Amino acid sequence: MKIGILSRNPKLYSTRRLVEAGEKRGFDMHVVDVLRCYMNITSMKPTVHYKGQDLVGFDAVIPRIGASVTFYGTAVLRQFEMMNVYPLNESVAISRSRDKLRALQLLSRKGLGLPVTGFAHRPDDVDDLIKMVGGAPLVIKLLEGTQGIGVVLAETKGAAESVIEAFMGMQANILVQEFIKEAGGADIRCLVLGGKVVAAMKRQGKEGEFRSNIHRGGSANLIRITPEERSTAVRAATTMGLNLCGVDLLRSNHGPVVMEVNSSPGLEGIERATGKDIAGMIMDFIAKDASQGKSKTKTRGRG
Ligand code: ADP
Ligand code: MG
Repeated sequence: MKIGILSRNPKLYSTRRLVEAGEKRGFDMHVVDVLRCYMNITSMKPTVHYKGQDLVGFDAVIPRIGASVTFYGTAVLRQFEMMNVYPLNESVAISRSRDKLRALQLLSRKGLGLPVTGFAHRPDDVDDLIKMVGGAPLVIKLLEGTQGIGVVLAETKGAAESVIEAFMGMQANILVQEFIKEAGGADIRCLVLGGKVVAAMKRQGKEGEFRSNIHRGGSANLIRITPEERSTAVRAATTMGLNLCGVDLLRSNHGPVVMEVNSSPGLEGIERATGKDIAGMIMDFIAKDASQGKSKTKTRGRG
């Protein structure tokens, strides 16, 4: 099989591991920097050009598209889809999960457990917005944030008002969310591949930090998840239409709640925490799924 990894950096752990796992299986692996791809989108025969050449003969592509290049990255991926190349995750599913609001609305429609969440741009009644989600303490998030940046805990109503007003002044879209205190600064990352949770880890924020992000000093450990957590993660992945994703859950006193669904989950933390060969599992999944042509159009037209 000829497989492309759409990644900006061949040196990243996840990219290296996927190349290694593919080559071990005798696949012809190529790392393609999406930002350097260019395309004639009106041509009868869709193609992707890269470094002066036509990218032809690919059987599958693995999108590893960073949040900052979602727009262009999904356009390149879409071009591959038009060329009938099997995508591990489809462009529409990636766009769906990248938009936090759209993702939460879809998950809520399917009845998945979520923290009580409101969103706003310029609320004319901040007081009512705070009341709507149950009052302080509250978590306030910038819609475009990643790696824990732009996620603020407001312990009092006064603090919540100041933060909301500050974000409003920045013309930003915000999420206002019930604070799941009982999660104790930890979350659970479930790695879902082909509708199954293949690995899970617990991430614990550093002392005094409510955010569990590794980038904010959190640490990862192996964990056993409950059947309810397992089914929540699988349903979240199915709702997004993603073959591969990381579903982040918080343990709340009203059951597991979904924080977010990540369409390019990093492999380093989860392989280290679990000792599993996730890259190998991904390559085996692609070999099977691409040959069955199963993923195509599964999620089309679902918003
Ligand atoms: P990012 O996309 O920047 O990672 P998240 O929404 O995942 O933003 O929030 C970062 C972390 O903050 C989460 O992993 C979680 O540990 C903590 N957190 C976020 N929202 C809440 C909440 N409503 N209650 C408790 N902890 C939260
Ligand atoms: Mg997160």
